[in-house]
Amino acid sequence: MTIVLWREPWLKPLSDMETGTEVCAVCKMGFKVMDFVTSCEFCSIGVIHDECARKHILHEHKALLDKKVALHRDRRLHDYQ
Ligand SMILES: [Zn+2]
Ligand SMILES: [Zn+2]
Repeated sequence: MTIVLWREPWLKPLSDMETGTEVCAVCKMGFKVMDFVTSCEFCSIGVIHDECARKHILHEHKALLDKKVALHRDRRLHDYQ
């Protein structure tokens, strides 16, 4: 079964103050101008590249992710019943 995960669609420019760092906490690479960044909803890793977040969540939080997917599946069933 295919599971697709929706990530928040809005974009918000962050100030230097808000990012608090110039490098991604996952790959340790600097941010480019107009990089897409996000944070992890499962831990407080900090600001990370959008693509690094996908890898990070899949590797570090697979169990939590499965739990979340299951939770939403249950909820959806109830909506239809
Ligand atoms: Zn990165
Ligand atoms: Zn995390």
